Amino acid sequence: MSVRTRFAPSPTGYLHVGGARTALFCWLYARHHKGQFILRVEDTDRARSTDAAVNAIMDGMNWLQLDWDEGPYFQTERMSIYKEHVDKLVDEDKAYHCYCSREELEQMRTEQRATGENPRYDGRCRDRRTPRPGVAPVVRFKNPLHGDVVLGDQILGEVRVVNSQLDDLIIARSDGTPTYNFTVVVDDILMRITHVIRGNDHVNNTPRQLNLIDALGGERPLFAHVPMIHGADGRKLSKRHGAVSVMQFRDEGYLSDALVNYLARLGWSHGDQEIFSRTELVELFDITDVNKAASVFDADKLGWLNQHYIKQASAPSLTAELRQQLIRLGGEWSAGPDLGSVIEVQRDRSKTLVEMAQKSLFAFHDFDAFDEKAASKHLTAASGVLLAALRVDLCALDAWTASALDAVVRSSAEASGVKLGALAQPLRVALTGGAASPPIDETLLLVGQARSLACIDRALVRIGSST
Ligand code: GLU
Repeated sequence: MSVRTRFAPSPTGYLHVGGARTALFCWLYARHHKGQFILRVEDTDRARSTDAAVNAIMDGMNWLQLDWDEGPYFQTERMSIYKEHVDKLVDEDKAYHCYCSREELEQMRTEQRATGENPRYDGRCRDRRTPRPGVAPVVRFKNPLHGDVVLGDQILGEVRVVNSQLDDLIIARSDGTPTYNFTVVVDDILMRITHVIRGNDHVNNTPRQLNLIDALGGERPLFAHVPMIHGADGRKLSKRHGAVSVMQFRDEGYLSDALVNYLARLGWSHGDQEIFSRTELVELFDITDVNKAASVFDADKLGWLNQHYIKQASAPSLTAELRQQLIRLGGEWSAGPDLGSVIEVQRDRSKTLVEMAQKSLFAFHDFDAFDEKAASKHLTAASGVLLAALRVDLCALDAWTASALDAVVRSSAEASGVKLGALAQPLRVALTGGAASPPIDETLLLVGQARSLACIDRALVRIGSST
């Protein structure tokens, strides 16, 4: 039987790190087994589900390149299917109408608490045959009264629950709408899901779902409940720990390959290997190798991986994202150097594409103001003489290439009788406004001839006015 996994997000917000990792594990498992990966949008909570969230989730999956083979299926478009299955269970006497009012249920619970019992529905409408006039009933599932439900979880191992602990679950509300546990089960059966991989916040639902699957005559899929992700402080990962939305990582200049690699290692391991290409992940991933313990989100490690992927990515694969980052920072990229050369110059010194863009802005537009500390140290009367001499040589240069520029700067320093740094540092301040930039030949290369000359003029004016 071919493997079929599904990712079943509720569209109430963006795709967060936890959801993305679940989707990745489902995707990897399906791809490893050459099976199908299905996207199912669980949008029955109409008050909380939005189209924007559906789009955000799909954007996140597209960015991570988690392509799905079927779907998206929307549960709100499947209401008649759920109703059919509710009716079927009622007809087969596996579910029943319950007419208990809120007050009655509350009183029942109060009495149970008073005698030290766990509050739970006591099944009082189970054998009721007569409707209560004027009351729209809910439908409850007749959970088996005896025996155990045993879940052989692929990650957690055996989870055993006694049926007497499970009360009769509401599967349809009084307005006829089906409840979460029911829609999941019907869909998993009809979509022929073989492996349910999801967060272990759902593990408490699983025994009830297994009973429902049995009642509906479905085949039980295998379950794998993936442990939660915590922040470094041991608490459940949330906004307070920084970025948690997949697209926010993109906005902050992370590469999708780096995030995929990072998320895969968050709970899963293969020896002590840290870097995995997508192909390797597909080849090596097995859900049974996922850890039981909660994982801790380590932003430094993600940064390290991102740097690795930036270093080894092909320049064309980075240009579109870098352009976006430059635009965000207000860079006039169309007027600047070729982005491929920016990437080549900056890739070894940037942890993120945002950092790369920030460090490259000087190549795209004139800096607003000199960094005062750098300017007062390096833009002096003496360096003005050096810059003016270099300007003449740069003006005459035909080929604006890194090697020609390196040679010109060196020979100009030599001709002026100073060390390279005595010329390069003032030049750096002239070109970028500050004292940090890539090697001086590459900085000149990125700024271009006309703007480099204009920058030197600007520095000379400053020197003239301050001496
Ligand atoms: N819709 C559920 C959620 O977003 C997932 C249900 C499942 O995977 O079974 O948490």
